[in-house]
Amino acid sequence: MLEDKNPQKTSLAELGEFGLIRHITKFFKIHQPSTLKGVGDDAAVLDSSDKQTLVTTDLLIEGVHFDLSYMPLKHLGYKAIIVNLSDVYAMNGEAEQVTVSIAVSNRFSLEAIEELYAGIQLACNTYKVDLIGGDTTSSTKGILISVTAIGTAEKDKVVYRNGAKETDLIVVSGDLGAAYLGLQVLEREKQVFQVDPNNQPDLENYTYLIERQLKPEARKDVAGILKELDVKPTSMIDISDGLSSELFHICTQSKVGCKIYEDKLPLDPQVISACEEFELDSTMVALSGGEDYELLFTVPISDFDKIKANPNFSIIGHITAENQGLQLITRANQEIELKAQGWNGLKED
Ligand code: ADP
Ligand code: MG
Repeated sequence: MLEDKNPQKTSLAELGEFGLIRHITKFFKIHQPSTLKGVGDDAAVLDSSDKQTLVTTDLLIEGVHFDLSYMPLKHLGYKAIIVNLSDVYAMNGEAEQVTVSIAVSNRFSLEAIEELYAGIQLACNTYKVDLIGGDTTSSTKGILISVTAIGTAEKDKVVYRNGAKETDLIVVSGDLGAAYLGLQVLEREKQVFQVDPNNQPDLENYTYLIERQLKPEARKDVAGILKELDVKPTSMIDISDGLSSELFHICTQSKVGCKIYEDKLPLDPQVISACEEFELDSTMVALSGGEDYELLFTVPISDFDKIKANPNFSIIGHITAENQGLQLITRANQEIELKAQGWNGLKED
């Protein structure tokens, strides 16, 4: 589906490991005063003064987590950083550094790795995080990327998954389900392309969905908005696996139940129209889709007025007693028990 825009191919062996590392890291700028030493020594050196340090890692494997037939390498690099930053923001922290380790087979050229690092660099510049190290090695097959993000939060500012209390409001940022539908569109186009390579996909009606899948953003802004509103969440998590699954984490760890309302789930108009076209239930997609990288958090009910008026946030329900379980109240006012993987097994595989 994607044309090779880099007909020129330089083999990685030509540069050697150290040449490659120097080549891919030389254009990265340092943004954070806490980075005392980045790439180039045996270890990076950080100074996070009297703050608490947050550390999170994700491993992405070709064929398992991404498909290069519709995921351009630049987007892959960008997304690999974003998914890690999202975890730092979900702790109410600020992301400051990342390490990136890659294993690549000889199928990949220098130009391909440059594309990957162009995406990594774009994410680092956009989110003001420093690339401070990593490791580079070969793989027998495919490409593997491991990113670690490091962040800080002032003492007493970190928000865990386990702090939700009965009567708290449940809030999500942005809208849900678009990234999952973007993947459905891309999968469909890939199949069409396999049958007829001359068929040029018409993706105009799906731009938002595809962007949410291929170029997600992390909610760096939420901590600042909440600070301005003088609201401290009682619990928080980022939505990587789907709303249902994240609600389960919060409720299990906080030892509470929850009630969420179908008619309160934030959906983009493109999500609604694509659901009609794919004959999918938009509620199911919002609950189980995943990869939205929005934030799900709980706040005391006394903060209702502060949250209600904010266009970044939707109040989707409230926390109940543990013995109430996790309930979805449908538009028809029926109660349906939420399952960890979505109540209709969208992810049967
Ligand atoms: P060592 O052999 O001591 O592990 P390396 O030669 O692997 O060191 O790495 C040299 C420097 O380059 C280190 O600062 C390391 O963190 C950095 N580095 C190696 N690979 C990468 C990469 N893929 N991306 C960013 N930095 C890297
Ligand atoms: Mg090394």
